Amino acid sequence: MITVTKTFLPPLEEYNKYLRRVWENQWLTNRGELVIALEQKLKEYLNVSNIIVTNNGTIPLQIALKLLGNRGEIITTPFSYVATSAAIVWENCTPVFVDIHPEYLTIDETKIEDAITDKTTAILATHVFGNPCNVEIIEIIAQKHNLKVIYDAAHAFGVTYKEKSLFEYGDISTCSFHATKLFHTGEGGAMFTKDANLYHKFFYSHNFGHNGALAFHDVGINGKISELNAAMGLAILPYLENIISERRKVIDYYNQNLNLNKIQLLKLRADTQWNYSYYPVIFKSEEVLLKVEGKLNDNQIFPRRYFYPSLNKLSYIKDSEMPQSESVSCRVLCLPLYVGLSVQELQLIISIINENL
Ligand SMILES: *Cc1c(COP(=O)(O)O)cnc(C)c1O
Repeated sequence: MITVTKTFLPPLEEYNKYLRRVWENQWLTNRGELVIALEQKLKEYLNVSNIIVTNNGTIPLQIALKLLGNRGEIITTPFSYVATSAAIVWENCTPVFVDIHPEYLTIDETKIEDAITDKTTAILATHVFGNPCNVEIIEIIAQKHNLKVIYDAAHAFGVTYKEKSLFEYGDISTCSFHATKLFHTGEGGAMFTKDANLYHKFFYSHNFGHNGALAFHDVGINGKISELNAAMGLAILPYLENIISERRKVIDYYNQNLNLNKIQLLKLRADTQWNYSYYPVIFKSEEVLLKVEGKLNDNQIFPRRYFYPSLNKLSYIKDSEMPQSESVSCRVLCLPLYVGLSVQELQLIISIINENL
């Protein structure tokens, strides 16, 4: 069976080395030695100002919205994983969708200003598939209208834009370290901010609001990651360069062998050093997608429809029309992409696709 992704696992002995430290420390959570070590190593690797590693990639979205969204209207993208919209609703804010650019697949920044009202408090946009939003224009709009900017950067691990980590843009960026993501800790995630004050607020927010053992800054929640999860991250970090270069080879092979006259690929924004996190292909119609998917499934190959449905069509959200996002959502498939996907397997996937376009 070939799936859209396959979780990278480090050699068990290397994970065990970190587990031994957990046993020696007798310390399993509440920001132990391994969590601190992981934060330090990621801070260096990613070259970011501040990082807090969390228990998943959704909690930091919720905390960011709690701190910056203020129960207002949040301008957001309809083309993302459901967590982006769900976090907005969960935090008692109102999602206001702005359609996407049909090639970059990120929020169409030229349409943001039309969606701003006196209730708008923030923009929450996704660097979808690791492709940067137009961060410069979004920054200008946010300053002009006094809005906060949160990036769902769940796919953007290691991406740089204009030679700076993509996590350094916006007021807060969040990432996911879920087992299906490029870099993972089983379950896990992180928040990033350049702002020391926001870092402080986020820090106590993810630890029940604690100000020492007996006092509290404000209301908080539990966003802490365990030592066992941090151990996984530490054991994987040395393999990251290799993981990225192996994924790059898979993507090069797809690019060279798929019939690109009949498939649209993701257009990367200029000045981006990408992370090879996903391989989305956009077919001419949903009919072609379903045919290709069916044939792949017949051969035990299971790509995923990332992202369907367009989030403006969720049952718990007020209905709106987002023609570009709905059109792409119906036609996009993410192809298998992981370390260890063989040339033989790639040839099978590619021949099935090319024969059914
Ligand atoms: C994976 C993902 C999340 C959620 O991350 P979890 O770690 O699974 O909570 C949020 N947004 C996007 C775009 C994602 O792909």
